[in-house]
Amino acid sequence: SIPLGFFGGIGGASRSGILVKGSNYLEALNNVKYVVFDKTGTLTKGVFKVTDISPKGDITKESLLEYAALAESYSNHPIAQSILTAYGKEINKEEIDQYDEIAGHGIKIKEGGKTILAGNKKLMKKEGIAFKEEEVIGTMVHLAVNGKYAGFIVIADVVKEDSKKAIEGLKALGIKKTVMLTGDAKRVGEKVGSTLGLDEVYAELLPHEKVEKVERLDSYKQKNEKLIFVGDGINDTPVLARADIGIAMGGLGSDAAIEAADVVIMTDEPSKIVTAIKIAKRTRRIVW
Ligand code: ADP
Ligand code: MG
Repeated sequence: SIPLGFFGGIGGASRSGILVKGSNYLEALNNVKYVVFDKTGTLTKGVFKVTDISPKGDITKESLLEYAALAESYSNHPIAQSILTAYGKEINKEEIDQYDEIAGHGIKIKEGGKTILAGNKKLMKKEGIAFKEEEVIGTMVHLAVNGKYAGFIVIADVVKEDSKKAIEGLKALGIKKTVMLTGDAKRVGEKVGSTLGLDEVYAELLPHEKVEKVERLDSYKQKNEKLIFVGDGINDTPVLARADIGIAMGGLGSDAAIEAADVVIMTDEPSKIVTAIKIAKRTRRIVW
């Protein structure tokens, strides 16, 4: 049987906007020593803004942005939203013949006889597109049209105010390691890591590599120690399922992520993890 106190704990959590899918997870929250975060939409707002449009060759800024908007028109990635907002015009989707969203890479479409690529360095490499690397502050979306590099668009995201509160709160609770896993560029990841005072940052990861990192961290755990993964759900379902406690952040969270998660935070505040652990500790005191 489940001690009654657990129901009180689960009820208390839900009044704080935290959905715990079972008393075993509330109990496990007591022993959390590793907290692993996704970046985009979890520690950062996930609301990107276009800050630079840099065409290469004889293409204009307008047409570079138009190619990007066309490529991103079916995606619900936060990057796509920023490009569509910057473009600001209607897109005739009927012209798109083929569409592929490649997790951790970007987009490939075929439209009116043209092949358009929009994504990161990895996508360009995979598709054999050569380009000169440049140092920029922000996330770069590279574009290629018919096998030729066409330039890049720079977008910037900001760290959530609440993320600082979350990391400080976790450290105060005696968490051993705070870690961020991201598919974004190394430079972008390291900036977020130093801003927030995270213990470790791993960048340029594909979804399956995020799972591997969690498995590696798992091997450091002592008996009874638990690991949390916190993500907004986009591309995160495998890691959510793999962690001892998978936590999906509300707001942007996809249905698949909410399904795969053990705990759902209804707001976009990572500091709710601190609240959840505190509720778990209080519940334990009542139960035992
Ligand atoms: P994160 O780990 O930060 O949540 P994702 O795994 O969702 O990021 O994506 C990793 C990287 O893949 C992005 O930083 C971007 O470079 C590229 N990418 C993913 N989706 C898109 C897209 N729709 N358009 C362009 N680039 C994308
Ligand atoms: Mg993400």
